[in-house]
Amino acid sequence: MQQQATETVDRSQMQVSDEVAIQITKMNKWYGSFHVLRDIDLTVHRGERIVVAGPSGSGKSTMIRCINRLEEHQAGQIIVDGTELGSDLKNIDKIRSEVGMVFQHFNLFPHLTILENCTLAPIWVRKIPKKEAEATAMHFLEKVKIPEQANKYPGQLSGGQQQRVAIARSLCMKPRIMLFDEPTSALDPEMIKEVLDTMVSLAEEGMTMICVTHEMGFAQAVANRVIFMDAGQIVEQNEPNAFFNNPQHERTKLFLSQIL
Ligand code: ADP
Ligand code: MG
Repeated sequence: MQQQATETVDRSQMQVSDEVAIQITKMNKWYGSFHVLRDIDLTVHRGERIVVAGPSGSGKSTMIRCINRLEEHQAGQIIVDGTELGSDLKNIDKIRSEVGMVFQHFNLFPHLTILENCTLAPIWVRKIPKKEAEATAMHFLEKVKIPEQANKYPGQLSGGQQQRVAIARSLCMKPRIMLFDEPTSALDPEMIKEVLDTMVSLAEEGMTMICVTHEMGFAQAVANRVIFMDAGQIVEQNEPNAFFNNPQHERTKLFLSQIL
């Protein structure tokens, strides 16, 4: 499962700048009395491609969901593109408009066409004129290589195609950061590559990305940093070669021995 998307990745545009895109400091989160995230410190620079790995239940989804406030943190600080995520709704709106998110389950609206799925938020949230939103949607549907599906409904597409629509739909909001939460985990093996290829091309264009994924081939080919989480903490992080070939912590070694 892990040897996908390793061929010919063009790293020439994948430059990491000094600019900080996301700054998380001593962030803690509880679900009721359950302490799910502990003292998370993470700085993401513009242009970084970060892969988050770790066992099920380690807090990966919760961490990235905190970055666009799908979950609320209770202590510490999260700053995205210079805006702090707190209770201020204006800040939350601003950050959501800059951060795109793609989930394991594509969450497309079944009663809307592919084109309508892609234009809904730009028209109603961004107030973009319909014609312009449609042109943008077609541009991104071409990018994910399914423009011919524009007038179909999600149920008429394969899982891999639906996930590419979900990515295109996110891109239509022109995000500066993309978060992926196991985008290929619900897909049949033959569809995983087409979705990973889409993510590779985004990375090649310099998108700042945080990807929770078990696709270690993708991590090796695209990531500049792999973060390993366990029990609500970032246990270890390193560039992919060092991470895979020379893990430091026992928990990381155990995890890698189970998935590689
Ligand atoms: P991962 O994505 O690494 O599998 P999650 O972030 O989904 O981990 O979950 C981390 C822990 O928090 C798990 O123990 C999970 O059961 C728990 N959890 C997740 N969401 C909720 C929730 N809404 N309420 C209570 N506990 C939750
Ligand atoms: Mg998860």
